[in-house]
Amino acid sequence: MFSVGNRFMDTIVALATPTGRSGIGIVRLSGSSSVAISRSFIGCGDFEFSPRHAHLVDIIDPVTKEVIDEAIATLFKAPHSFTGEDVVEISCHGSPVLLRQMIDMCLSLGARLAEPGEFSLRALANGRMNLAEAEAIRDLIDAQTTASARQAVRQMRGEMSHNLQPLKDELLDVIVVLESALEFVEDDLPETQGESITRKLLRIEAEVDRIAGTFKAGRLIREGLRVALVGRPNVGKSSLFNALLGSERAIVTEIAGTTRDQLHERFTIGDIPVSLIDTAGIRETSDAVESIGVERSRRAVADVDLVLVLIDASDKFTAEDRQILESVAHLAHAVVLNKIDKVEVGTISDLRSQISNFRSRVSDSGETVGVDVGQIVEVSAVTGEGLVGLQEAIVQPFTSDDVSAGGFLVTDARHHDLIVRAAGEVRHSIELFELRSSEEITLIGLHNALRYLGQITGETTTEDMLTRIFSTFCIGK
Ligand code: GDP
Repeated sequence: MFSVGNRFMDTIVALATPTGRSGIGIVRLSGSSSVAISRSFIGCGDFEFSPRHAHLVDIIDPVTKEVIDEAIATLFKAPHSFTGEDVVEISCHGSPVLLRQMIDMCLSLGARLAEPGEFSLRALANGRMNLAEAEAIRDLIDAQTTASARQAVRQMRGEMSHNLQPLKDELLDVIVVLESALEFVEDDLPETQGESITRKLLRIEAEVDRIAGTFKAGRLIREGLRVALVGRPNVGKSSLFNALLGSERAIVTEIAGTTRDQLHERFTIGDIPVSLIDTAGIRETSDAVESIGVERSRRAVADVDLVLVLIDASDKFTAEDRQILESVAHLAHAVVLNKIDKVEVGTISDLRSQISNFRSRVSDSGETVGVDVGQIVEVSAVTGEGLVGLQEAIVQPFTSDDVSAGGFLVTDARHHDLIVRAAGEVRHSIELFELRSSEEITLIGLHNALRYLGQITGETTTEDMLTRIFSTFCIGK
């Protein structure tokens, strides 16, 4: 556990509920002066807290002696509180004016405004939770889908530590054997012991790799996919955008080139959040305003997970369609034939084969990166036909069995990075050990692996790192 510096000596205050009008607004104090500060404005100065009891109290401005609210005050006495310090929570009426007054009063009585995540940081410092659990609280608050909230709760309840602890114990076992061999064994380790160490390390490596492998699904659930809609003017990008969102956000017009800027909207397909970007269309243009939009589209498209190229099924496969297809050929993309309500059933096979032929010619001449989507999906943005199939086509290339298996997933890039590094160190140590390198050299990698795994739960995390991590939390948490 890292040191509890002087910055934890003072008492912090923050609004624990969002700013704005609401039924209740909660002011939260943590630190050794929480009780003294709150007693200065509760009742007439003789108020006594009974810990973990909700007290209905008058809040009295200590300067004007005016009653400013009736509130519920609760004391959570150290160490039995969220932060491990004395915590006082005052549930006031949710008036922004009143809550501002409450915070100002606490500040004038000696509290300091909490930094983002400072309550959780104190909880960590006081051993109330580990780092992965504190991060899970942040993730739960930020979760955009029930699936990511569910994963955050699992991590908050310690599943990350439960998964990692056996691995750390096994690593430590191997380290102890090698360290003692270093100290006491004159010759090499006996063959059987060497084999048992290799077996153990291979098992650890496989398990670390397995946990790292869940990140593909974990990231998908937490961060979702970025999908861009491109196509020449009037193919129905705005209409499809709206159809997918189920609301009328983008402006739909009959005039070519009127979608001048990108629009971002978020929706979900099953458990997966999708950020959909409607672009002004990738094409050459002489119009100054539109060319700005086109340039932005190009940039936006460069870093999406999937590009949907819209083509009008009721029209010809034009040079402009070809140009657009060619420009995204190196990205993961799917072709969407829109306006199928306007064509006779079974009459678009010709268009489909023209597109397929063109795509195979383009892909033969260049390199393709990312997932091979290769699909041609038929929809009508107007009637809604084919939309379910399109939704499946969007997520299908990215989903893995892990998403539906219901297991614990690594959702955080920081955790994933550390796990991958730990796996790399174990792998390297196995190679060295099998080459009969000295125990000393093998041990370096194993110690590193242990340190990386420890950084996930915070046992071996530096203060700088913690400050960076906690700055991503919201104030009052
Ligand atoms: P954008 O320029 O690519 O964004 O195209 P819009 O979404 O503005 O659509 C251009 C025109 O095509 C509008 O009149 C839409 O109503 C029409 N449109 C779009 N999708 C469909 C469709 O699936 N079927 C039919 N019949 N018309 C469509």
